[in-house]
Amino acid sequence: MTPPTRSATRIAHVGIALPAIDAQLPFYRDVLGLDTVPVSDSDGARIVALDADGSLVELLEPAGADSPIGRFVAKRGPGIHHICFAVDNLEAVMAKCRASGVELVDQVPRIGAEGKRIAFLHPRSTGGILIELTES
Ligand code: ZN
Repeated sequence: MTPPTRSATRIAHVGIALPAIDAQLPFYRDVLGLDTVPVSDSDGARIVALDADGSLVELLEPAGADSPIGRFVAKRGPGIHHICFAVDNLEAVMAKCRASGVELVDQVPRIGAEGKRIAFLHPRSTGGILIELTES
């Protein structure tokens, strides 16, 4: 009997939208003891990433009120903006989502902040959470 195939899917990062990173950074860095990791800013957001044993916490501060993160914070307040899962085969998971009726924001993978291919799933299909998929 073959053992069940274990999913290699893991949490790559959790994006947290905040009006000002500097107000919350001491909690994650100094209280929880997470090290900062250099990442580039993207999608109109300043990003500070912290390493939680291989998964990142990304603090997202709007560069302007009219950026996606700015609109999110204005509408919903600070909080979890999205969860990113790293998967083995992005196209295969996207096809599985499509076949299962999960609504994709990106119909084809696009290039994300770190040069990796990513795709977002619509929160309407995922219990209200914006899900990002990326490649492992
Ligand atoms: Zn992300």
